[in-house]
Amino acid sequence: MSDTPTKETAPKLTQAAIVRAKAPKTAFKPADVSPSRRQRSYSIRLWSVRNARFLEGFYKRFAGLFLTLHPFWNWIGYGRAERPVTFVERQVKGLMFDCRMCGQCVLSSTGMSCPMNCPKQLRNGPCGGVRANGNCEVEPDMPCVWVQAWAGSQRMRDNEAILKVQKPVDQSLRETSSWLRVTAQAAAEREASKEEAA
Ligand code: SF4
Repeated sequence: MSDTPTKETAPKLTQAAIVRAKAPKTAFKPADVSPSRRQRSYSIRLWSVRNARFLEGFYKRFAGLFLTLHPFWNWIGYGRAERPVTFVERQVKGLMFDCRMCGQCVLSSTGMSCPMNCPKQLRNGPCGGVRANGNCEVEPDMPCVWVQAWAGSQRMRDNEAILKVQKPVDQSLRETSSWLRVTAQAAAEREASKEEAA
């Protein structure tokens, strides 16, 4: 009987594993990829996805409060408010969602799973490399952000928002506040509709 591996028994090599195997071996290992650090992030990130419905409602109330404060933001100037608000946004969303501060948040559409954590930074669904256990092709110990996004989105009231096609990331908005941008847009829309009605 031959020992040649059959199609079923041969180990499945992913594209990422092949690229990694071919990469030159060096002593350098970036600190940012410590498995224990990532594991901690995953736990909180996964909690956020499990509680997507609660966070959806909480965010709606929070966005309403920010919109109520529009005259205040206007008074101090959105530009001046940007730095402190961005700081707070980074701390809060960094802890809860492992936010990468893309500046154009889509958490409300993606079940509270941040798509910027996808190593390929896909904004409209998973690549073809999701593992059978639902983990990422590139980072085998990380749950695929898009598998999580679908699970989280199905717990939300607006469970069809995930079907909306997202625009490519506008890199010029990185490190800016989504909270302030959404507030300013909502305020402008509210004023425009008031003018139309008058
Ligand atoms: S979508 Fe952008 S702003 Fe929202 S959590 Fe992810 S990186 Fe942060």
